Amino acid sequence: MSDCIFCKIVQGDIPAEKVYEDEEFIVFADANPQAPIHHLVIPRDHISDLMEVKDKEMLGRLFAVVQKVAWQEGLAPEGFRVVNNCGEKGGQTVEHLHFHLLGGRFMEWPPG
Ligand code: 5GP
Ligand code: ZN
Repeated sequence: MSDCIFCKIVQGDIPAEKVYEDEEFIVFADANPQAPIHHLVIPRDHISDLMEVKDKEMLGRLFAVVQKVAWQEGLAPEGFRVVNNCGEKGGQTVEHLHFHLLGGRFMEWPPG
């Protein structure tokens, strides 16, 4: 989508600190990190949020990327958090599906 920030990152029109990419996904550092390591895992294709996912198997492949990046970034085996904010009440601010991968500190619960 032409006015989507994350599509612009996928296309290389907005710079991002990429830590992983393949033909289906990219992972890059969040511009406003909430933990020492805070990455965003996104599909290259524009899907607005979790409820709009048609290809459910894509989510399995996405979580395989989460596992790969967790090892790559030294988050596993100690632990980390994966977050998806879905929709307005879920706190989603960018309408391109993304999973936050957070770690490098002890995570607290409950979230705000
Ligand atoms: P949400 O609130 O939708 O779950 O998360 C959106 C995330 O995208 C936020 O953590 C925000 O800091 C991040 N973000 C927004 N715009 C940009 C950008 O242009 N570049 C990067 N790297 N992250 C962004
Ligand atoms: Zn998009």
